[in-house]
Amino acid sequence: MDIFTRKKRSWIMGRIRSKNTKPEIIVRSVLHRMGYRYSLGHGKLPGSPDIVLPKHRTAVFVHGCFWHRHKGCKVATMPKTRVGFWKKKFERNIERDKRNLCELRRLGWKTIVIWECQALKDPEKLGRRLIDRITGLNGCSKTSRKHRMLIYEIPEKKELLKIAEKRADYNT
Ligand SMILES: [Zn+2]
Repeated sequence: MDIFTRKKRSWIMGRIRSKNTKPEIIVRSVLHRMGYRYSLGHGKLPGSPDIVLPKHRTAVFVHGCFWHRHKGCKVATMPKTRVGFWKKKFERNIERDKRNLCELRRLGWKTIVIWECQALKDPEKLGRRLIDRITGLNGCSKTSRKHRMLIYEIPEKKELLKIAEKRADYNT
């Protein structure tokens, strides 16, 4: 891909997917607080995951509930006009997400999808969900989870929101 195509593509993508959103920063803060090291910006991996934990070969997506259609979420409303257009668009988004997750797993990556409403709601629950998925224990080893949660105290929701507010970048 030449530089112009890449620029154009990132410009188009940028309008759909903004980086450094509040939910993303919250997920990053919680991961960091629990002692996980991550990196950002992974255009080369399928679906360009928002956060990657190389040591755990885990890719994290922080999905906007509206664009990625969080099932049963009150944010995932259907616009009142041009319903056909939106339906098609949403279907394509869902298909694309599914394809990317499959592709990542095929390449040996663990995948975690965090919905923005989950990130904003309950940091402790978010922390538990992340640990379960990263360790692949899915709640089997309550002791190891408890251990990690105790060592690394997860910040209060208020504190997290403050951090996110400061760092969020809506200029993209
Ligand atoms: Zn949601």
